[in-house]
Amino acid sequence: MQRKRIAIYPGSFDPVTNGHLDIIERASALFDRLIVAVAEDHRGESLFGEKEKLHMLGKVTACLDNVVIECFSGLLVDYAKKRKARAIIRGLRAVSDFEYEFQMALMNKKLQGKIETVFMATKEIYSYLSSSIVKEVVLLGGSVEGLVPEGVEKRLKEKIKRGHYGGTKEKNLKIKKG
Ligand code: ADP
Repeated sequence: MQRKRIAIYPGSFDPVTNGHLDIIERASALFDRLIVAVAEDHRGESLFGEKEKLHMLGKVTACLDNVVIECFSGLLVDYAKKRKARAIIRGLRAVSDFEYEFQMALMNKKLQGKIETVFMATKEIYSYLSSSIVKEVVLLGGSVEGLVPEGVEKRLKEKIKRGHYGGTKEKNLKIKKG
């Protein structure tokens, strides 16, 4: 019997955007199983907690039978090996993503030679989209309709209204890339 082809799509997903979702849909069509893996926020920089991220991702991928959502901590390649994954999926938006992604891919290859990194080019309309720009726009009162799945914008607004963005507005603008 042929081994199942399993891939892992890791990230912080703070929160999931339509750019992520597009990669999830396309990658899930290429593999028998896609594990969307939420990286532990060891620096405590995320707006959303692990449970909320899992919940949002679970909801927006409910129609994709071969997609599972998990959290992981520690080295990605160790986690991938444990899950018997053959590939790590990463999305590329612009040349600016490339240097970091290339470095990570080479390091992961060095650590675990059997696991391949597969890069998928973003859909053009999402090429400028990141979780951090979405947070910034919502913080400043703009609409992110069409850029995040339904429900995510609402959750974002609630969080920001409840002051979960910490500190002053000025401070809040200096948010992590991703
Ligand atoms: P980070 O590694 O910066 O925490 P994220 O958690 O936001 O990244 O995203 C996880 C993966 O999804 C990364 O490979 C990232 O390049 C990719 N990604 C993020 N936004 C998009 C987008 N709009 N289009 C394609 N890929 C994306």
